[in-house]
Amino acid sequence: MTLIDLKDSLHNCQRCKLAKLGRTQVVFGVGNPQAAIMFVGEGPGFYEDKQGEPFVGAAGKLLNDLLKSIGLSRPDIYIANVVKCRPPDNRDPEPDEVETCKPFLLQQIELIQPKLVCTLGKWAAQTLLNRPVSIMKMRGQAVRLDHFTLFPLLHPAAALHQGNLRGSLEEDFKKLKAYLDHLDAPPPPTPAVPAPPAPPAQMNLF
Ligand code: SF4
Repeated sequence: MTLIDLKDSLHNCQRCKLAKLGRTQVVFGVGNPQAAIMFVGEGPGFYEDKQGEPFVGAAGKLLNDLLKSIGLSRPDIYIANVVKCRPPDNRDPEPDEVETCKPFLLQQIELIQPKLVCTLGKWAAQTLLNRPVSIMKMRGQAVRLDHFTLFPLLHPAAALHQGNLRGSLEEDFKKLKAYLDHLDAPPPPTPAVPAPPAPPAQMNLF
């Protein structure tokens, strides 16, 4: 299966109740299908639902600015959401919707094979960790999983709604940059191994 096959298989998906709660279309995901870094948000909002692309509204603009601040841009990454259809009135996705849609996110990750998955907000982090999380406690810290490293960040929409979180989100991206720089850094030189002492000169017996 390719990413395009997976996308096609979700066209007009009716597997969970979000299909019947006013979505315009399934918002599968966009970006570089070979990206080393993937971003995962919660679900499409109003503009994403209309345009069929994740993170195109005000939160998307803020995400683009934050990516730029650490030397990345949208073509460098792949971006998708936990649920691919817009929950009504921008409510949180419900557990049955997350459970039904999650396998498609896992398949996206398996096909793209990113080294790093940056989750945006609590829902994406806890979906991939399979447990409830406190995003305020775990944000900005890399968590090694079986096939990739998860790097939880605050959701840009949270920073737009609560101005006091804007600085925290910028801090998260600085930590992400430091983490990426650390990965790119060449390994420290191997300390020179002292040469073994020369064997004592043999007496010339002959
Ligand atoms: S949210 Fe996911 S499972 Fe539910 S209808 Fe949309 S694509 Fe299908």
